Amino acid sequence: MTDNPQENLTMLACLAHPDDETFGMGCTLALYARRGVQAHLVCATRGEVGDVDQELMQGFSSVAEKREAELRCAAGILGLAGVYFLGYRDSGMPGSPDNQHPNALAAQPVDEVAAKLVHYIRLLQPQVLITFDPIGGYKHPDHIAIHRATVRAFELAADPGYVTDLPPFQAQKLYYHTMPKDLMRWTVRLAPLFGMDPRHFGRNRDIDMAAVVADGNFPTHASIDCRCVHDIRDEAAACHFSQLGGMTGRRGLMTILQRYFRSKESFMRAFPQPKNGLHETDLFEGVVLESLTKSC
Ligand SMILES: [Zn+2]
Repeated sequence: MTDNPQENLTMLACLAHPDDETFGMGCTLALYARRGVQAHLVCATRGEVGDVDQELMQGFSSVAEKREAELRCAAGILGLAGVYFLGYRDSGMPGSPDNQHPNALAAQPVDEVAAKLVHYIRLLQPQVLITFDPIGGYKHPDHIAIHRATVRAFELAADPGYVTDLPPFQAQKLYYHTMPKDLMRWTVRLAPLFGMDPRHFGRNRDIDMAAVVADGNFPTHASIDCRCVHDIRDEAAACHFSQLGGMTGRRGLMTILQRYFRSKESFMRAFPQPKNGLHETDLFEGVVLESLTKSC
């Protein structure tokens, strides 16, 4: 972290569904929010096709409404400065009929989604931008779609030739959140002992964890120590009660493993191009505040 006033520091996470902000990088967002960083979230969908038990739907007219309420609850606990929806529809896992819905996020042209993200990048002017890794963590089509759109938007937002009603803005750093490799490996190894098939994992049995381990070998360029915000992250996770079934597994395999592997959240740095052996402990390391550059 720089010695400069934290209130001028801004980060923006570009993600796909309500709960992505908490289950993957909740500690990081909570930590920076507590340090005074303005932590914003763009959520591309409202998680329309998430599986929600009927008894949890009391007072809500749709899954989207329920999951938006859960996200707003979590955002308040994490301390997010703003939540913005892009209004696309959850595409579901690969091969599901929801992939074909005309408003499905994964079915949209990347430049169209990127244009919406450019608006928020230019408006909020984050020094640090975060999204999923190139395989979307566990190959969810929406995670991959928002990854591609964010990478495109990062470039377009800085391009003076890409004219919108807001001036160009160059974010200083772009990170991809990466799944903890040890957690994934142990999940594949131990799943059968818990009566679970690692190739049909999760609440809807639609995550091929073995393929994720095989293809998700991304480098770790930054690790954020989460220990002092575990309780906050857990409190935010409880907001997403309707989605907790898949995270805990039949006998709580993920709960047990996460206890051992949750002390850090890992990120790959896409920009600036990392040097060999880079290992940051602060996503704002090296960030220069524009106001200071101007006054010097
Ligand atoms: Zn998601």
